[in-house]
Amino acid sequence: MDKRNEFLPYCRPYSDQKEIDAVVDVLKSGWWTRGAVTAEFEKRFAEYVGAKYALALSSCTAATHLALYCYDIGPGDEVITTPMTFCSTANVIVEVGATPVFADIDYRTGLIDPDSVESKITPRTKAILPVHYAGQSCDMDRLEQIAKKHGLVIIEDAAHALSTEYKGQKIGSSGNATCYSFYATKNISTAEGGMLTSNDADFIDRARVMSLHGMSRNAWNRYGKGGTWKYDVIACGFKYNSTDIASALGLAQMDKLDEMQQIRERYDTMYRELLADLPAVQPIELCDYGKSSYHLCVVRVDESKLTIDRDRFIELLGEYNIGTSVHFIPLPVHPYYVEKFGENIDNYPQCKRFYNSIISLPMYPSMSPEDVEYVAAAVREIATKYAK
Ligand SMILES: *Cc1c(COP(=O)(O)O)cnc(C)c1O
Repeated sequence: MDKRNEFLPYCRPYSDQKEIDAVVDVLKSGWWTRGAVTAEFEKRFAEYVGAKYALALSSCTAATHLALYCYDIGPGDEVITTPMTFCSTANVIVEVGATPVFADIDYRTGLIDPDSVESKITPRTKAILPVHYAGQSCDMDRLEQIAKKHGLVIIEDAAHALSTEYKGQKIGSSGNATCYSFYATKNISTAEGGMLTSNDADFIDRARVMSLHGMSRNAWNRYGKGGTWKYDVIACGFKYNSTDIASALGLAQMDKLDEMQQIRERYDTMYRELLADLPAVQPIELCDYGKSSYHLCVVRVDESKLTIDRDRFIELLGEYNIGTSVHFIPLPVHPYYVEKFGENIDNYPQCKRFYNSIISLPMYPSMSPEDVEYVAAAVREIATKYAK
């Protein structure tokens, strides 16, 4: 096959004039930070995921940090999470003073293994922080059972899981604190941004106050029509609020969400069909209990069937001008977690094996079906040329 000269990036946002107009409208309105547009984004988002309340924030990292904080998780507590995640999932556990405890994953899907979670519970365990990896739901019935039995809270990292379904219900509708990301690579983007949802009014009220310095009134209440200059600082809070500029992008992206999801699903199906007869390179398995958000197209390279390893496979895809990524470098590999917590990837055999085999292929609505065909053809050509 002919190699392209033009680089196909690993990811690129999907937008048109509507995003530009929405931002310009906010800029012209004279109210740039958190205000009416953010309130509208929160309402629309909560309705979409089926949660009672939503709080727009500056990132998913902010959302998970706030959730842990507002559940009073701190020094002496343990939080069980997955090693196969972005560093922020565990960093925020450390930031509230608690200890991250990793459970192993299921090699077929990359999702946290509930049996491993259960084996890691101690009297100090306070919460489970599952990650809906690549856009598939974790086995929530099992995790809820474990949480109930041991009196734990569940905080869901749904950075990949906007529109993901578990047994016919959207992630976010469980009522658990659920944290979303609108970083540039996610299913919708506001450049940087996040959302915290919950069905607990007191929890969201506390998170709202803590997201803005611990002030009892936000800027909208103070500087808007009928506002007053008075406020009380009732806690030592953070600066985690969203802005109306970001929320305008968020609303414009929500308008496109169904369309974008249809394209993602189509591309996922295409990849699976185009790679179906290639034993050395297979997409991660789909769970039968839910519907993916198709956030990532993660394939596993079976090194036992090839003369090259995963790293070399990525280099060769680069020669075809194809951008790729690896989600994720497991946390027990990173020096901080090794040195501070004595972590060792050898203690997570499924995760180690998974990590050594994975490549994330380009998967986003602004690529074309021909791009998907090109990537699949390149994968096939490499796998065939270097077959054992
Ligand atoms: C992107 C990501 C985050 C962090 O999101 P931010 O909005 O950048 O803070 C957290 N968890 C996972 C699994 C992610 O992929």
